[in-house]
Amino acid sequence: MARRLQLVSTLSGCEYPFERIEEFADNGESLEVQISDIDRAKVREGRHLWERFADFLPFTNADAGVSLGEGNTPLMAAGDQLQALTGVGNLLLKNETQNPTWSFKDRGSLACMFLARELREDTVATISTGNMGHSVAAYAAKAGLAAVVFVPTFAPQEKLMAMAMHGAHVLKVAAPDYAEMKNRVLGLAGRLKLRIVSGNGPIRVEGYKLTAFELFEQMRGKVPDFVAVPTSACGHIRGVFKGYRELQAAGLIDRLPRMIVVQAHNNSPVVTAMKRGLSQVVPFRDFHTIAEAITSGNPAGGDEILDKARRFDWLGEDATEEEILEAQRAFARAGFFVEPSTATVLPAVRKLVEAGRINRDASVVLMLTGAGLKDLDALKYQPCGGVIESDVETVEADLRSVLGR
Ligand SMILES: *Cc1c(COP(=O)(O)O)cnc(C)c1O
Repeated sequence: MARRLQLVSTLSGCEYPFERIEEFADNGESLEVQISDIDRAKVREGRHLWERFADFLPFTNADAGVSLGEGNTPLMAAGDQLQALTGVGNLLLKNETQNPTWSFKDRGSLACMFLARELREDTVATISTGNMGHSVAAYAAKAGLAAVVFVPTFAPQEKLMAMAMHGAHVLKVAAPDYAEMKNRVLGLAGRLKLRIVSGNGPIRVEGYKLTAFELFEQMRGKVPDFVAVPTSACGHIRGVFKGYRELQAAGLIDRLPRMIVVQAHNNSPVVTAMKRGLSQVVPFRDFHTIAEAITSGNPAGGDEILDKARRFDWLGEDATEEEILEAQRAFARAGFFVEPSTATVLPAVRKLVEAGRINRDASVVLMLTGAGLKDLDALKYQPCGGVIESDVETVEADLRSVLGR
């Protein structure tokens, strides 16, 4: 029996065809893919993750040719230093910086390419502060599709150059507000018959489910108590959680992890609403944060995340600019070079432990979403020691003074 695919709006349950080109429902709610018979889904044999979990995914003939080798990222113990900093005994890192374009976005881009191939679309388009655009540009290049990337004026140079190198058309769109720019650009999809994916669209979410499936395999069926996710458009956290819920629906796990929504204090539309017990996001405008990859000030579909947070007892915490910079250094001193946006998870989890919201013996997975080298500009705010000017005449003396011998 053929399974049925459709899109469903996440709060009011309106149904749309799976092929719908717009990213959101007519009433602005986020959309999600619904697969009939998900409760009978099974893990299959297969070389690739998307083959083993094909029953859980909406693709009928996923083409391995579009992959850039994403996924298979390490899940590892965070080590003594980071453990001590957070106070969590069982602290795990899911290192998504080891994806092909150095962020978790590659999993969503893989899903976009599968869909473009299936629907025979020749162009993929996205709106991004950098990482998603870079990722889509790379995957489009591999798949032989044209790519258009809309970026705000504050997108880091490293990411823009990468998009251009991959041959994408990059449109830097000036706007008083990034959320407004997103809405305007997304509004072009229907008129131009162009699928423009955002950070919280239904197809990228299907790609992010793969992270939950990979964690399920890496933890041999065990479920962590918490998963902390730096959150902006909300697609990533939604996708990981959807993956776990579908594993539960299929009877493969018997409980769900509690998600931790992490945002920068200066732009915390979801976390602020969680802390105040509101059911609608609190829009932020005219803010500045070093965490450039998490700058959705009014995330479309964010209300659904608040609904999930309430129903499933999620936690929310933010990180100040100072805490972010300090955490970026702490990660680096422990061997992990992450973007400022990623660094937010460390102080957020520490504060939740101190407040008694997370038990010290809980298992907590920190999502390392993006790599530090992708935003070199941010490093000018870091007190950078470590480089000693020397020359061949003084090098021995300089070495002696460094080593103290
Ligand atoms: C995109 C991104 C995020 C935020 O993910 P959303 O799906 O937009 O919530 C966090 N960290 C990094 C490095 C990112 O690139």
